[in-house]
Amino acid sequence: MRVCIQRGTREIGGTCVEVESAGARILLDLGLPLDAEDLTSAPLPPISGLTEPDPSLVAIILSHGHRDHWGLLPKARVDIPIVMGRAGERIMRAAADFVPGGFAPTVSHHLENGKLLTLGPFSITPYLVDHSGFDAYALVVEAGGRRVFYSGDLRAHGRKSKLFERMIANPPSHIDVMLMEGSSLGRLPDDAEFETEDQLEGAFVERFKATVGMALVACSAQNIDRVVTVYRAAKRTGRTLIVDAYAAEVLKATAYDSIPKPVQGWPNIAVFIPQSQRVSLKLKGIAPIVDSYRGFRVWPEQLAEQASRSVMLFRGWMLKDIERAGALVGARVFWSQWDGYLHDGAGKMLKEVCLARGIPFESIHTSGHASPGDLKRLAVAVAPKRLIPIHTFERHRFPDLFDNVTLVDDGQWIEV
Ligand SMILES: [Zn+2]
Ligand SMILES: [Zn+2]
Repeated sequence: MRVCIQRGTREIGGTCVEVESAGARILLDLGLPLDAEDLTSAPLPPISGLTEPDPSLVAIILSHGHRDHWGLLPKARVDIPIVMGRAGERIMRAAADFVPGGFAPTVSHHLENGKLLTLGPFSITPYLVDHSGFDAYALVVEAGGRRVFYSGDLRAHGRKSKLFERMIANPPSHIDVMLMEGSSLGRLPDDAEFETEDQLEGAFVERFKATVGMALVACSAQNIDRVVTVYRAAKRTGRTLIVDAYAAEVLKATAYDSIPKPVQGWPNIAVFIPQSQRVSLKLKGIAPIVDSYRGFRVWPEQLAEQASRSVMLFRGWMLKDIERAGALVGARVFWSQWDGYLHDGAGKMLKEVCLARGIPFESIHTSGHASPGDLKRLAVAVAPKRLIPIHTFERHRFPDLFDNVTLVDDGQWIEV
């Protein structure tokens, strides 16, 4: 078996790993680089079978539904079999109607925790992991008696931290090559830990208590762990979590009983449809989806009266709806995403608007990726013959932190 990180040895984003054995190949992820201007100008990695027919390309496996892992997929041939988790597929499908450049893949096989999947000469064992993206997997790929472990994106401090501890207690064995993400290196001191989602819940509770009007939380609707954190904090402070149609559809798409959603039986959750979303749903011919929120709707004329008892999952463009409804009085904005998104685009604009308008703006967030300490625990538990950094801007730090590190370049083939 041979492995080639086509992209990702020196960056977070654009992740793509090509694995070859006995004349057959699979790809692990086909991500959009973070610095890509747009899909058109971002080139596909030089992999046979992505645009020209080549039956030796057996499948593309997506570890999870973050764009830095699937974003180039719309440029590839539609007849390449796609493999990913069931809930991940449903969420991508639900989100495709709402997010610019959204994409609903046609998935031919599904990843299931611990369930062996055979694709050509490859035996693949998925491990469900804790990550800010829902339904994310690490993968053991076995072929010709050799074993590769790809961490995908993972962490140990989210709502599914048990999965990480279980992996440490019972790690995949006899791993020849481990491709391990290192997103947190350079972003967190080696001996520091990220706040847990539980700790974040406590922080939100405190801040919601101190908020006179509406608490506006700017987080990704697809960060399901975070939505659950915000929902629980809302409930603990006697507030109702208000979501828009996008978040409502994503929450429903998880199809997990434990995830709050605007369906019968869930208290403290409501749906508000902003004006431009109402128009867009009509244009896309999917306006009838709002019928399913009957009994959960909050109307513009109710927002002001309910503001002090509400938390809204919101994006900057919704401010005008809230203002029009007279519901901005006493509001606070809580930024609950990576701070890097505040440096430009919509994040920067939101922060500036809040500053200009005197709306208090603060950050309450924790990373979707494992701390250096947790990565160390993982590397020690798996004890691979060779450890290769991926999904990191700080690969040169790997040899200080982990054993048996091999540094490779994008496009370099490694005999496993
Ligand atoms: Zn991710
Ligand atoms: Zn990623």
